[in-house]
Amino acid sequence: MKHVAEGMQDFYRRLTKDGYHSEDVKPALYQVERIVHMEQVRRHILNCMDCPLCERAKSRVPGTGNTSTPLMIVGEGPGEDEENWGLPLVGISGSLLTLILGKAGIGREQIYMTNVVKCRVTDDKGKNRTPMREETLECGKYLRRELDIIRPRVVLALGKVALQFFFPDMKTMSQFRGNIYEYEGTKVVPTWHPAYVVRQRGDALTKAKKEVWNDLKVAIECAKRDEKR
Ligand code: SF4
Repeated sequence: MKHVAEGMQDFYRRLTKDGYHSEDVKPALYQVERIVHMEQVRRHILNCMDCPLCERAKSRVPGTGNTSTPLMIVGEGPGEDEENWGLPLVGISGSLLTLILGKAGIGREQIYMTNVVKCRVTDDKGKNRTPMREETLECGKYLRRELDIIRPRVVLALGKVALQFFFPDMKTMSQFRGNIYEYEGTKVVPTWHPAYVVRQRGDALTKAKKEVWNDLKVAIECAKRDEKR
């Protein structure tokens, strides 16, 4: 089977030989290459049995969306709905996130969404639990690959687990949200996981909604600001 890089070199030679300009060919092939690489990652994830979480998980949930986006959203891991439907952030919290993105003028299809852990993490009673550090380290190889392929300008990190993937020493969201951090050339904007927002009531709900909205606006501004460079 032809290697992806080898294929792209061949396509480049053929297209430029046919008179297409190199400056048009290169970005087109870069886009194709990203899609192909992401499909390879997706297939690996769907067949992954690299850690014990696969024993209980009903499915694997790879990331989804635009591989050419400047904005990537990273959550913790799939819940019951995501596990059943095989897509990240499609339950109640993902629906809330989609609503908030829509208010900011962004459609889901414009960006890329994924999780730190691709299998649902449950306790002995089948209830969701927070993934342990070693679990995020093991499955994090896929997120690292997604980051390598997309090279987003900004990541909106939803919740503590996503934040700690990038910065293991940041122990609480309340202490660290409201700022922009840098991870290997990518800006990281931490915010509350929408699942947290869904659980709030009264003043706490108003506050959480406002903070998520502000953080999203910051992330969007970062993406746009860097685009102009
Ligand atoms: S959690 Fe990640 S590493 Fe573990 S089996 Fe699922 S996909 Fe593989």
